[in-house]
Amino acid sequence: MKKEVCRTCKIFFEGGVCPICKKKTFATVWQGRVHFLNTQKSGIAKKMGVEKEGEYAIKVR
Ligand SMILES: [Zn+2]
Repeated sequence: MKKEVCRTCKIFFEGGVCPICKKKTFATVWQGRVHFLNTQKSGIAKKMGVEKEGEYAIKVR
């Protein structure tokens, strides 16, 4: 199944609805991905405004 990326949260998800914001606006083009295991200790996660652990895309179009 092709993965989708939420335009708002930047998290990867499947099934057409974002698990965080419940929106259906997703992108299918991105330049990289990053996996946050502990968002509390990650400076990058803070910079991106990520609060939930998971796999996120960077430079989403
Ligand atoms: Zn979202």
